[in-house]
Amino acid sequence: MTVAVVLFTSDLRLHDHPPLHAALKAADEVVPLFVLDPGIHAAGFDAPNRRAFLVDCLNDLDASLRRRGGRLVIRDGPVPREVRAVAAECGATEVHMAAGVTAYAHRREERLREALGGDGVALRVHEAVITAVAPGAVTPAGSDHFAVFSPYFRRWSQESLREPLAAPRTVRVPDGVRGEPLPDRAKVPGVSPGLPTGGESAGRDLFSRWSRSGLALYEDRHDDLAGDGTSRLSPYLHFGALSPVELVQRSRTHGGPGAEAFVRQVCWRDFHHQVLAARPGASTEDYRTRHDRWRDEEEAAEDIAAWREGRTGYPVVDAAMRQLRHEGWMHNRARLLVASFLTKTLYVDWRIGARHFLDLLVDGDIVNNQMNWQWVAGTGTDTRPHRVLNPLVQARRFDPDGIYVRRWVPELGDVDGRRVHEPWRLTAKERSALDYPEPVVDLAEGLARFRHARGRD
Ligand code: FAD
Repeated sequence: MTVAVVLFTSDLRLHDHPPLHAALKAADEVVPLFVLDPGIHAAGFDAPNRRAFLVDCLNDLDASLRRRGGRLVIRDGPVPREVRAVAAECGATEVHMAAGVTAYAHRREERLREALGGDGVALRVHEAVITAVAPGAVTPAGSDHFAVFSPYFRRWSQESLREPLAAPRTVRVPDGVRGEPLPDRAKVPGVSPGLPTGGESAGRDLFSRWSRSGLALYEDRHDDLAGDGTSRLSPYLHFGALSPVELVQRSRTHGGPGAEAFVRQVCWRDFHHQVLAARPGASTEDYRTRHDRWRDEEEAAEDIAAWREGRTGYPVVDAAMRQLRHEGWMHNRARLLVASFLTKTLYVDWRIGARHFLDLLVDGDIVNNQMNWQWVAGTGTDTRPHRVLNPLVQARRFDPDGIYVRRWVPELGDVDGRRVHEPWRLTAKERSALDYPEPVVDLAEGLARFRHARGRD
């Protein structure tokens, strides 16, 4: 009887799972394994919202495996130690896993290879599991990665993707492999009240509904803050509960301008992955320094607190920050404008904003979060690094009737139409009835400070 271990990481699914597919081909029995590595806690990858979503994913994966005659084995401890122990317990000769992108994932892989090598167990690492196209698979002449999105997208679109692999019908797990009990979501403290349910089953249901209704309208509706016309698939992609290859292939089959726009957006995810894979330091350091001398954190403490708590006095910014706290998620247009507000209008270091997002976002990940923050701050890959998004212009354009603001800022619930975006323009009598703060910054002054700092005045 031959045995293989499949180590699940950011790929918590059974459909279109190359490591599982290969392991089932190579061996008679397979141990599906997830390891709660202490590195996950230390690196802050498991803030409460993501921890709760992860717990859902693990429970769902276990249930799906059980329907196929198997189960998920969960271990607690460092990955190399636990995988090695499991391989020894079941006599496995191979371990299969998805290739990672971050520095953390690379270190994990190296240590695992070392640990298994001594026992004669082979580590087989599979590409294009976490992304649709593997980082480094397409490169421009003379560089190891694309620094600009459009040419990357053109090359990425020409790559041929595999046909999504079916989920296995049966999974035979050897007896006698020890595992921890499944974690319980109810025991995770500090979770946002509006957090969605995690797991492959919920993700597939959402994608099916989205393909039938939202996808065709995506091109027209994706920037409408109140209409919520995006897929909300990001947390499922983050945990790998959905395969990006399958998402792209099924969307392409659907066809039309909505699907095209959606696939382009999914490509942004791969784009950032290939940047960070080539420049791992960009998770903490400027990808392209603009020699910013960001405001001192203590001096800006009140502004930062107002931004975090959604009481900047700019209703669209406050609505977005409150949505983040309530749902553990925020609309992309809103992410853009609150990040621009923090880094440019308030001139606060992007790392402070990125940290807050990572504390709350259910889809928060080092790759997409840090690279998007850098993009907005102008230290990343944006080709117009010094542009500043005016929150009023953004609000009028993407929330023209003020519905999004009134949904999240109940103090302004009685202010009708677009007047809600500028409460300071209300009459003194109207204003005195509102329990809503004055703006923390004058937009023109904020803009002048930023331009001066960047040597653009
Ligand atoms: P849709 O519009 O339905 O897009 C489909 C998928 O494409 C998304 O699920 C996502 O996987 C991908 N995608 C879309 N836009 C981007 C983008 N700009 N960059 C990378 N992938 C994208 N996304 C994360 O997954 N994790 C993060 O931590 C994260 N942090 C961000 C921080 C800032 C400051 C900004 C501006 C954006 C950030 N994004 C992040 C990107 C984007 O906002 C979210 O992916 C998107 O809002 C998720 O909603 P959706 O699934 O409905 O997206």
